[in-house]
Amino acid sequence: MTSATRTWAIILHAGAGRRPKNDAQPTRDVCLNALARGQSVLRDGGAAVDAATETMMELEKHPLCNAGYGSVLNEHGEVEMDAAIMDGASFDIGAVGAIRGVRHAAQVARLLLREPQILLVGEGARAFARARGAELCDERAFHRIKTQAPPSSDLGDTVGCVALDPSGNIAAGTSTGGLSGKPAGRVGDSPLPGCGFYADNAAGGASFSGIGERIARKLLAARTMQYLREGDDAQRAADRAVADAGPIGGAAAAIVLDARGGIGWAHDTPSFAVAYAASDLAAAAYVTRSEDVRR
Ligand code: ASP
Repeated sequence: MTSATRTWAIILHAGAGRRPKNDAQPTRDVCLNALARGQSVLRDGGAAVDAATETMMELEKHPLCNAGYGSVLNEHGEVEMDAAIMDGASFDIGAVGAIRGVRHAAQVARLLLREPQILLVGEGARAFARARGAELCDERAFHRIKTQAPPSSDLGDTVGCVALDPSGNIAAGTSTGGLSGKPAGRVGDSPLPGCGFYADNAAGGASFSGIGERIARKLLAARTMQYLREGDDAQRAADRAVADAGPIGGAAAAIVLDARGGIGWAHDTPSFAVAYAASDLAAAAYVTRSEDVRR
């Protein structure tokens, strides 16, 4: 979706995968509700990093999303989460990997954003969260229905967000429980810059979902930035990045904003729940790209 420069824009995703048909409307509702949170931050002149973080924290509350409360379980039936947030103005990054016992992994990533370190994992990440006053919780606080999921490398419904604020700053973030049945300690693409996310005010921002090992092997967020810098609009950059995962098996999905607030999204999976809005564009939500007729 190309446009003149927009005052603000926001796009979120609630994961690539195979959403059952009866989940479609509840998923759209969850997406629009979370989007409204980010929209209100941007309309009030707030920062893109805050709009993206708060949007993801809303999504982390919902069992339909594979993040926070709704996280899928690893091979031992435990929740280990990955999350990240990046500021495209300063290139600051806050990310956590395989963190346990926090309510909002995205909040912990945001707390790390201005620190010298970019990524904390496991116990160290939880200790940081505790020290910085993030909301902690025990294992019973997660949505246990997902304990029945068979061990597999099947896709979850990771969340992500990219936002452009009225100052021209772009932020991108991710939050996930990872892949269902994953080995304990496994970290996917979501907290790795240039893999599951990236933001650069001069180019744009991107956030991915799909099989993390493939997204990371192909550096899909870094490729997206390259395509944007070469002059692609957000949609073409998203299409090209997703196609780049094809030769190693695909299962990738992208949301992209370009530096002017142009919106793009693409997936090679059966579903990919997305919602977006901009200063000149009313909010809309979709569960597959083929539903999006506004472009
Ligand atoms: N990319 C996430 C991961 O591999 C999973 C997902 O997007 O559903 O951890």
